[in-house]
Amino acid sequence: MITSLLIANRGEIACRIIRTARRMGIRTVAVYSDADAKALHVRSADEAVHIGPSPARESYLVGDKIIAAALATGAEAIHPGYGFLSENAEFAQAVIDAGLIWVGPSPASIRAMGLKDAAKARMIAAGVPVTPGYLGEDQSPERLQTEADAIGYPVLIKAVAGGGGKGMRRVESSAEFDDNLESCRREAASSFGNTDVLLEKYILSPRHIEVQVFGDTHGNVVHLFERDCSLQRRHQKVIEEAPAPGMDPATREAICAAAVRAAQAVDYVGAGTIEFIADASEGLRADRIWFMEMNTRLQVEHPVTEEITGVDLVEWQLRVASGEPLPKRQDELAIRGWAMEARLYAEDPAKGFLPSIGKLDLFELGDVPGGRVDTGVEQGGEVTPFYDPMIAKVIARGDTRDAARAALAAMLDDTAVWPVRTNAAFLIAALEHPDFVAGTVDTGLIGREGDALAAAPEPSSEALADAARALTGDQPLAGFRMNAPHRAVVHALLDGEPVELPLSGPGEDERRDNVLLAEAGSVWRVAAWRDDGAGHHHAHDGDILSPMPGKIIAVEVVQGQAVTKGQKLLTLEAMKMEHTLTAPFDGTVAELAATPGAQVQVEALLARIEAVE
Ligand code: ADP
Ligand code: ADP
Ligand code: MG
Repeated sequence: MITSLLIANRGEIACRIIRTARRMGIRTVAVYSDADAKALHVRSADEAVHIGPSPARESYLVGDKIIAAALATGAEAIHPGYGFLSENAEFAQAVIDAGLIWVGPSPASIRAMGLKDAAKARMIAAGVPVTPGYLGEDQSPERLQTEADAIGYPVLIKAVAGGGGKGMRRVESSAEFDDNLESCRREAASSFGNTDVLLEKYILSPRHIEVQVFGDTHGNVVHLFERDCSLQRRHQKVIEEAPAPGMDPATREAICAAAVRAAQAVDYVGAGTIEFIADASEGLRADRIWFMEMNTRLQVEHPVTEEITGVDLVEWQLRVASGEPLPKRQDELAIRGWAMEARLYAEDPAKGFLPSIGKLDLFELGDVPGGRVDTGVEQGGEVTPFYDPMIAKVIARGDTRDAARAALAAMLDDTAVWPVRTNAAFLIAALEHPDFVAGTVDTGLIGREGDALAAAPEPSSEALADAARALTGDQPLAGFRMNAPHRAVVHALLDGEPVELPLSGPGEDERRDNVLLAEAGSVWRVAAWRDDGAGHHHAHDGDILSPMPGKIIAVEVVQGQAVTKGQKLLTLEAMKMEHTLTAPFDGTVAELAATPGAQVQVEALLARIEAVE
């Protein structure tokens, strides 16, 4: 058995791997960038090595530095986690060439599944049903157009080197093909450095079903059943569960057997996932489920499989990498109950899912019996702009799907994070959507109804009344007045917006200037408003700060201009997306520090709005 392990990753997955390694008595070595010097994964490991500046391409993506760190600390093996270098065959080979153990499949297996077109060709040869489409070598626009017309619309153009939901375009008609091909190729060139595409029939009523597979160096391959990851936003998974709702035993048997054949076809060793797309217009049927791609690594959503099988997949990875046979045979594996996972992101759904970064002054995650939280951050820590904004995975289980769903909603309900924003309330709304409750969600649900699910929730009147009592104290304060004989209100600011809070009953013993109101996954700050001449707004409420490092691409206002609440001020391009910054209230542009084309740091003051009194 491996006795020491370097984890070439960060955040929740690094912490997750360290947890199992520690339980198995394996010494752990973390690596970290500047931004992560105080991160949880660094303190959780027995040892940690600094590998460079904050940007991943200068630290977590530099294979040589990671291998050097392993050699310097005497680590025997490297676990890549997911993302970063986990599916990089050259890195896997370099690890092996350095005399270290690579916790993952062979470089040849990674390569075989690395490009979507080659992987599909290989699967066809192995008798695995694949999504109908065109995998041809002829990449001329004319040929692609002809093939797309023959497949029939809608058609999906996919970058062969794509991943993470990027490099895909759904095309509705022949006339729109050319433009979509061009924009898909542009994105593929900049994100993956490879402009080749394949074409697929766009499956209607699509459900994403995937199968966890595991191989060892003794020629055994087993599956650990399926997961359903159909609740997606922009082709990225949001909520995952196991098993898949509506999966009958015969269909399960058929797709799990196909997944094992797929893994065997590439001599697969270690943990892997075979992703399928299902046409669920008439339920899940074996003849309407097709291979999409293989992920040759541990998957983000692996915990739901662990929860229903009782297997620690990281332990299996470490045993297999040490040369041991798989701990269980196929007939020793069974499904018990139901498990569901939600990805908690530092983002603001009400603002177009803008990533939210900064200090975690409050970071509390709900708990229920059997609940599990995999996280890489903690209260007092910080979310930086450099990495993926997923800050935790919240996982619940139950005897039935409904019990797991209710437990997960309860955990999210008790989640309170501030001032960083999260998608907790959005996740709760998704869990309560009638289609999700019924188990009939397709991958387009959030695209169709996302706006309603993402709407900023309002605090309940009970919560506001609690806040009023805390702000009042047992002494009436300035700004407190009787509106009518039996109705008292407290004037306050709710996240900067003036509000009147109903006051019923006596205040709390101690008066507070501001309180954090946490309810149903959301947190608001409520501050007493005092007529001290400063107006309705706190001094800094009108500061328009850059939410992330990025580039100003448009400025819509000039200094001194009058603006109304919600008016577009400027556009920032950051993390490959455009973000619009708007006026928080009616006022004038008192200061303007943004010019088109300028690179700006996080929290740089871009403009200042002065409220109209
Ligand atoms: P990635 O490498 O980005 O994960 P995938 O090929 O796994 O790319 O596709 C990502 C998602 O896109 C799937 O989970 C599914 O929601 C959607 N998708 C992919 N192929 C199809 C298809 N042929 N028809 C409908 N939806 C698809
Ligand atoms: P999955 O199907 O497991 O979500 P994807 O191919 O979509 O896999 O992406 C792999 C995962 O790796 C993503 O969920 C993403 O959150 C994570 N990931 C990608 N890049 C990074 C990064 N730079 N830092 C941390 N995690 C990352
Ligand atoms: Mg995929």
